[in-house]
Amino acid sequence: MDYQLILNEIAEEIMSLQDKGKVANYIPALENVNPEQFGMSLTLFDGTQYNVGDFNTLFSIQSISKVFTFTLALKFYSTGLYKRIGREPSGNPFNSLVQLEYEHGVPRNPFINAGAINVTDTLMSYYGDSTTASKEIMQFIQDIAGEPSLTHNEIVSTSEMDHGFRNMALANLMKSFNNLDNDVHDVVQTYFRHCAIEMNTKMLSRAMLFLSNHGIDPISGVEYLSEQQAKRVNAVMLTCGHYDASGDFAFHVGLPGKSGVGGGIVAVVPKKMGICVWSPGLNAQGNSLAGTLALELFTSKTGMSIF
Ligand code: GLU
Repeated sequence: MDYQLILNEIAEEIMSLQDKGKVANYIPALENVNPEQFGMSLTLFDGTQYNVGDFNTLFSIQSISKVFTFTLALKFYSTGLYKRIGREPSGNPFNSLVQLEYEHGVPRNPFINAGAINVTDTLMSYYGDSTTASKEIMQFIQDIAGEPSLTHNEIVSTSEMDHGFRNMALANLMKSFNNLDNDVHDVVQTYFRHCAIEMNTKMLSRAMLFLSNHGIDPISGVEYLSEQQAKRVNAVMLTCGHYDASGDFAFHVGLPGKSGVGGGIVAVVPKKMGICVWSPGLNAQGNSLAGTLALELFTSKTGMSIF
């Protein structure tokens, strides 16, 4: 299959959409990103990459980081994790408080904000403190991406902390139900730090390979998760990876995927490749507008959905 040709066609077809979405403005430091950008990358098991557009531009990975923190927490706590976090789609916006109250402080899944904050809390408990947890999460993502130079953008995480009232509320609510072990402020700060890690589509498509290959990175041979755990992460990506648009994403794209409000979306083609697309303009549910369409075009043109 001529992947480069397919990527070129996709870039051409989504061109008119690039300025249609809205850049996330609830994090002031993200508001200034130029919406008219688009990049897409595929990484195959032998490391071959195909790219189009702004694939070298670093962007804020935001909620895509939740795939990596969930992976780590699953590795350390295994099924014990589900005592404090569910694995059902929420059908609610990513930062909703209402459901969390009804359900006694147990977040629906690890990809809504409450669930991801809870996962970060487990990692802080595992590593002992916020600084070590942040360092180890970063190290883990660097290893998975094969990119030792990754950093997080302090301006973005500080900006999020300054405006993080809703995430603080979610964390406080979980604490009130005894479902958060560490200091609320420290947990939320650690969470914002991993959301503010910057990567490009090339790096992220490569970082998805272990999930396309039953938990084992096909390039380095490192086993990050057992086959069964990798299946779980993919299943949660498919059912919960796009908040209240998760059903829609499965319907149109048909791949396990995870979006972030920075405009990135990662996706997994089992036994074949990792994919990442980025375009900062978001749709009403907070997922990249052009990015979602690009992935839909990809599975339509290649027939590579899981269904
Ligand atoms: N850091 C963002 C927040 O907590 C992540 C949201 C997202 O990317 O969907 O609001």
